[in-house]
Amino acid sequence: RILDLKDPSLLVAQAYVAGEWISAPDGKTIAVTDPFDGALIAEVPDLGPEVVRRAIDKAHEVQKEWAARTAKERSQILKRWHDLILANADDLALILTTEQGKPLAEAKGEVLSNAAYIEWFAEEAKRINGDIIPPARGDQRIVVMKQPVGVCAAITPWNFPNGMITRKAGPALAAGCTMVLKPAAQTPLSAFALAVLAERAGVPKGAFSVVTGDAAPIGKEFCHNPKIAKITFTGSTNVGRWLMKEAGDSIKRLSLELGGNAPFIVFDDADLDAAVEGAMISKFRNAGQTCVCANRIYVQDTVADAFVEKLAAKVEGLKLGRGTDAGVTQGPLIDDRAVIKMEEHVADALAKGGKLVAGGKRSGLGGTFFEPTVMTGITQGMKVAKEETFAPLAPIIRFKDEAEVIAMANDTEFGLASYFYARDMSRVWRVAEALESGMVGVNTGLLANEMAPFGGVKQSGLGREGSKYGIEGFLEIKYVCLSGI
Ligand code: ADP
Repeated sequence: RILDLKDPSLLVAQAYVAGEWISAPDGKTIAVTDPFDGALIAEVPDLGPEVVRRAIDKAHEVQKEWAARTAKERSQILKRWHDLILANADDLALILTTEQGKPLAEAKGEVLSNAAYIEWFAEEAKRINGDIIPPARGDQRIVVMKQPVGVCAAITPWNFPNGMITRKAGPALAAGCTMVLKPAAQTPLSAFALAVLAERAGVPKGAFSVVTGDAAPIGKEFCHNPKIAKITFTGSTNVGRWLMKEAGDSIKRLSLELGGNAPFIVFDDADLDAAVEGAMISKFRNAGQTCVCANRIYVQDTVADAFVEKLAAKVEGLKLGRGTDAGVTQGPLIDDRAVIKMEEHVADALAKGGKLVAGGKRSGLGGTFFEPTVMTGITQGMKVAKEETFAPLAPIIRFKDEAEVIAMANDTEFGLASYFYARDMSRVWRVAEALESGMVGVNTGLLANEMAPFGGVKQSGLGREGSKYGIEGFLEIKYVCLSGI
């Protein structure tokens, strides 16, 4: 597939290992296809652990030198990377849409809003402050310094092929760490394009490598290689759980951003139109394929019928199609596995008494397109209420009062995002405090930005990305006891 890029050199089908662009030594490749029609876009290297080890060795070799630069120097390089991403945003968006399927405007939004994480952490690099603490003895001083954890391994998913990288690489490099990244096999081209720009910005050779290949052996290498100090992962809870076990052998630092099962609650005092708007964004953005997507929509009895009617009308207005076509709001799902999960959730709900209000089946467009779907009559026992659907299915669950809905919302092992719409101030405080999740959107369906701490509680993960807290996962605290003063 030929892409109409302003700068064709951004489309690279080689891995970036230890500062060199390489193919697999044995010539093995992985096909990258367009989810719109399955057409081949590129073949990228299928690298074995020995090449990954080379990237890790180099990252280890250059880490001390990178950390020894002044914060201002690291900051300036990161700012240049940020500026280059902005200058090439159209090309990055086109590459992203072609390998992932989301509408071009959404892809560009992802590129721009996540470049902001690099800018933010470029600034934070200069604010990695230590502490001087009153001592326990008069002849001592307690000094606290913050130092980079060392070499970081990053594993990123396909749903935000660009943004999941900048929010990891930004803070890592700012802190003085180096990084070896393994992007998702479905979407490596966005990662390579970012690496081209990192190289142009002056990120030293080997400080940021991008490797592609079979996930399990690369994951094992990351978990067991003694030169890796930290693993930062975004993806499914199952893989996160596995990484945590494997990495436990050598007590690696971990940041895990895992699955969610976000409740989206509409109370009877909500601005109903705003709630519908928020639900549309939270549920149908990226065709429902985000970890913070509304998964369960709880609506208070008295406003439920009106809410469903308004939501169904909006859903009718969604336009499925190729992400690069004008006016398209919904791309294809990433692959057949995603469609099958959606079908299972719809079938399970129907079998247990759920009703379809909109959609419910594969789209006539074929491939992995699925009709945006709204269902009513949903109950807590159905799969849609228990598991992350990760697809455009809006299941409506009715509730009577606050205590009931909070119990239902918290009845899950996940705890990433939750949302609710209400106007009563005491209710807003009560519910925000009671929801068991790392993030709560009140009267909004969209909450991620570089200034805020993104992350989950319970089995949705460990650590935070973004904000002043986001750099802490890449730093160790060292206490120096100065004695004999
Ligand atoms: P999804 O089901 O949404 O693709 P995954 O958790 O499988 O979510 O994928 C997220 C990232 O984790 C991808 O980069 C994928 O290649 C990687 N991954 C999958 N399995 C493993 C594994 N066993 N070890 C390390 N990384 C893995």
